[in-house]
Amino acid sequence: MKSDAFKNALRQLENVSKIIDVDESTLEILKHPKKIMIVNIPVKMDSGKIEVFKGYRSQYNDALGPFKGGIRFHPDVNLSEVKALSAWMTWKCSVVGLPYGGGKGGVIVDVRKLSKGELERLSRGYVQALRDFIGPEKDIPAPDVNTDPQIMAWMMDEFSRMQGYNVPGVVTGKPIEVGGTRGRKFSTSQGGVYVFEKIVEKLELDAKKIKIAIQGFGNVGYFAADILFALGYNVVAVSDSKGGIVLEDGKEKTLNAKEVLKHKEATGSVVGYPGTRTITNEELLELDVDVLMPSALENVITDKNADKIKAKLIVEMANGPLTPEADILLEKKGVTVVPDILANAGGVIVSYFEWVQNLQNFYWSENENISRLRTIIEDAFDEVWGKKCCTENCSLRLAAYAIAVERVATAEKLRRNL
Ligand code: GLU
Repeated sequence: MKSDAFKNALRQLENVSKIIDVDESTLEILKHPKKIMIVNIPVKMDSGKIEVFKGYRSQYNDALGPFKGGIRFHPDVNLSEVKALSAWMTWKCSVVGLPYGGGKGGVIVDVRKLSKGELERLSRGYVQALRDFIGPEKDIPAPDVNTDPQIMAWMMDEFSRMQGYNVPGVVTGKPIEVGGTRGRKFSTSQGGVYVFEKIVEKLELDAKKIKIAIQGFGNVGYFAADILFALGYNVVAVSDSKGGIVLEDGKEKTLNAKEVLKHKEATGSVVGYPGTRTITNEELLELDVDVLMPSALENVITDKNADKIKAKLIVEMANGPLTPEADILLEKKGVTVVPDILANAGGVIVSYFEWVQNLQNFYWSENENISRLRTIIEDAFDEVWGKKCCTENCSLRLAAYAIAVERVATAEKLRRNL
């Protein structure tokens, strides 16, 4: 049976509540999303027929600021997943100190079956349905799995059209020409690599010898592979939804992400890239490598395969790739896990810069965005590392959650009038 994502999110919250100072009433509030919208979106298909798509938006908590988080287009989207993702956004924004709460949206759809026009009408339909609930001061969506800058441009345009004036700050992750910001596209991966380099230093790993496997070759996995390649790291395996590849022994030491992408664009998958052996996504996770970067979907490492993981370090570039059961098993094996809410926060950090720039109509250079990203995420890493070291038997996840949940709980308490 598929693991229930929201149950996992609640378990993580309960685990941390035992080691932090949070009163029962506040904890009770933090166990529930503040508001959930379920919408049915009629879309005129190219055939002339109407199809209705189910969409969600979960607004989890806004004690620290407006709700913030992506929109996912995927056939497996469900309410539990959207709720979990919105809770994780809440902790993510909090742990890196952004003035945001957390939210998440999703639509049940297989985008590969839609034409560009159908995708546009669906994206606009989502905004029409949720118009009253989003906005720069309320809830600011962004890209997630299978949503990209073009979709954000349509969403921003639809919202602006309904308001009667340009509202670029209603979504982030837009193309640069319509209010996007430089570097946003690769910022999740860039943030993850900054965090990765910090942990390599702390664990005193020999950087040049590390073998890395990356699951996923989309918004996050591709840029992670590309940045790591440019820095001289050995990325030996990558995968996409159709399967994975691992370098054959004795040949190249690392995959050139740009070349692999060309192959994927030409053939539809990374599979079949010259000099590699084809593996499944499951096999990729169990490879004899030093570092795993799950960069696709949640619940890929569970109690079923945790024992077979050989990597000593896991950097969670995806949201929720490990179940709480897997966490326990991996901790026993001495595997270090850098939690998603820290490792993949680079995306929302640069989204925050984009929103700030939209509100001020004053735009920064890519260098400014990326150097500010580095400062924020490295400081957050140091804070989490410091917390881990001063609490007994504390994993990085627990430490990150302790900081994040405590911050939200304090804001909730200060604002409440009960
Ligand atoms: N979808 C991304 C995440 O899970 C980015 C969210 C955002 O930029 O608001 O962190």
